[in-house]
Parts: sequence; C-alpha cells; structure tokens
Amino acid sequence: MKLTVLGCAGSFPGPESSCSAYLVEADGFRLMLDFGTGSLSALQRYASLTSIDAVLLSHLHCDHMVDACSYVVVRRYAPDGPHKPLPLFAPAGAPRRMADVYGHDGPLDDVYEFHTLQPGTFRIGPLTVTVDRVEHPIETYGVRNEHDGRTLAYSADSALCDAVIRLASGADAFLCEASYLDADPNPPGLHMTGRDAGEAASKAGARLLLLTHLVTAWGSEAETLDTATAAFSGPVEVVRPGARYHI
Ligand SMILES: [Zn+2]
Repeated sequence: MKLTVLGCAGSFPGPESSCSAYLVEADGFRLMLDFGTGSLSALQRYASLTSIDAVLLSHLHCDHMVDACSYVVVRRYAPDGPHKPLPLFAPAGAPRRMADVYGHDGPLDDVYEFHTLQPGTFRIGPLTVTVDRVEHPIETYGVRNEHDGRTLAYSADSALCDAVIRLASGADAFLCEASYLDADPNPPGLHMTGRDAGEAASKAGARLLLLTHLVTAWGSEAETLDTATAAFSGPVEVVRPGARYHI
C-alpha cells in the first residue's frame, strides 16, 4: 500500500495544509480516506482529478467531508460528460447531509453510490477494510486497511478508546490524531493528545506512529511529538502534506 497525505490540519485548514484527506493506493486502486476542507486542491497535486476509485468518510464533521461536496461539480459537470457514480462509504445520513452542504439541489445519487458504514469488515477494491465506532461526539469510524499482509490503521477523530487500539493492533503504520496538548482544558470524549496517541500505539503494538490532525494555530508540534515519543518506543513522525509512505 502507498499512503499520500493530502491534508493533515486539524479542525480547520492551516497556512500550509488543508484538512484531513489521505490517498491510500494499492494495485492501482485509489481510496480517498476523508475529504476535508481544501483537500480537493491537494488531490490535484498528487493524482489526476478524476482518478480516485472510492471515498470513505470517517464522519460528517466538515473538516473531514466538505470537499466531497465540492467534488460533485467535478464529476457531474465534466466537459466530457458526467462520470459514473463513485462508491462512497460514510456514516448514516451522508446522502442528505452532503446534499444540504452542496446546496439543496436534489440528491447526489448521480455522483455517489452511497454505502452506509457499520462496524465490520468489507472490501473496497483490493483493500480489506475494517471499521469500528470510535469516541467522538458524532457517529465516527476508525479504519483499518489491509492489503497483501500489510496494515494501515487510521484513528479518525477520537478520544483514546479500546476501538482505536483494536483497529491499530499490530499495524505497520498507525495514522493517529493528536489534536490536543497535555495542558489544554481538553473536553472528554473528543480528541487525543500526543501522549494519548503514543499510548494507543504502544498498547496496539503498532510499528510506526504517524501523528496527524494537529490544530496548527493552537498547537505545538514539538510538544506533541515529545509527548508521543515519551509514550511509544517505536518511530514517531508528525505527517506533512505531500508526505508519502510505502507500507
Ligand atoms: Zn471531528
């Protein structure tokens, strides 16, 4: 598998990065994992505009899904004619919510073939995908992608919880959110700190911890990295837009 970080800014875009979006490639198949604010721009730097084969939205907060609504124009009004519906996996309510964001212009079924996420394991192209509910104020799914004996886990947005640790169990790479600093007045049930991400990676026995969803304007990359490293003995990196990993 190949992972390309399109956007990794937490909650709102930063000066250097759009919000969450990750391209997961295997056997020439491209899965867009989240499609957050501004990431349609980044997609065009690393892949052709219409080359993605499926989309998975971990949850329906706008920093993880809003550019999937902008993307409607790309497929519906292409100069060479409309493209065939793209498989899109998302929590319940996505068709209505995305149509509302797009602009009350009718359903989006001509653009997306909607699949409702539920905890379990299923195939997306060549990938074996397992999703489970994680701890966040709205219905949110962490994701485990497996291909050819390799595993990429993604926490989505979540507080530290058992489901995140299960999904990341033995993962070759664990892409984990680290939105908060230790000293923040962190509301429960929402996000993780760098230390939480390190603990999750350690308990899961992950091989590589990739920190993401840092809130650029309010965070400290150095502190997030330090606290994660203190809690996890394996290699740790803060991801950047355009970073590519062969997993
Ligand atoms: Zn969220």
